[in-house]
Amino acid sequence: MRLVLLGGPGAGKGTQARLIAARLGIPHVATGELLRAAGRADTGIGRQLRGYLDKGALVPDETVVELTRERLKEPDAGRGFVLDGFPRTLAQAEQLDLMLEQQEVQLDYSVVVQVPEDELVKRLSGRRTCRQCGAMYHVGFRPPRVAGVCDVCGGELYLRSDDTEQTVRRRLELYREQATPLLDYYRRQGVLLAVDGLGSAEIVEQRIALALAGNHQSRPDRDRRARMA
Ligand code: AMP
Repeated sequence: MRLVLLGGPGAGKGTQARLIAARLGIPHVATGELLRAAGRADTGIGRQLRGYLDKGALVPDETVVELTRERLKEPDAGRGFVLDGFPRTLAQAEQLDLMLEQQEVQLDYSVVVQVPEDELVKRLSGRRTCRQCGAMYHVGFRPPRVAGVCDVCGGELYLRSDDTEQTVRRRLELYREQATPLLDYYRRQGVLLAVDGLGSAEIVEQRIALALAGNHQSRPDRDRRARMA
């Protein structure tokens, strides 16, 4: 299964992508994580990337597309993947389709996790991320067992430089601008599934699983039926 997860920053894309990927036995590909790893390098490119990441600004399409292309070429992505954080622009969505076309495969679904903006601000400013494995917590809603320490790997939890309130507002603004054309793009292709993102991670995961199960036809079958209708 080849999936894209969409949703505002803090909508739970990362958590859901991780859960779906584990359930389906396919890799979770998070461009934010790939970029943060590349940005840690003490090189010119590393410094340039940190400039974008710290401000919450979008990294140029060519850079992200190239990074994603390389990741999706790895053997583990052959059976499918869950993309998280990509595409964020229409140009990236078109490039993704081209990439998949070259591999003679297609995206199955684009799942949008819907959460109101006020809730997103609350969630992000309390979010803590593990430096080592990327697992996410919330100081109020989902605290770790030991404050500041990751339950999964024991790594240090930190407040991402782009999770401060000012940057969160900027990221939400950006998402608002970028999401509409992306959602339209996938709606036109007939692959968009909208899921309510309020509630616990487990409940949202169930909603996504139900939505995917209720639309279990393969993409070629759906395309054929759409042509015949
Ligand atoms: P995320 O972890 O998905 O919230 O992404 C963190 C940051 O990485 C974003 O605020 C952007 O600066 C950058 N980023 C991640 N994915 C993309 C993308 N597809 N296009 C451009 N920038 C991205």
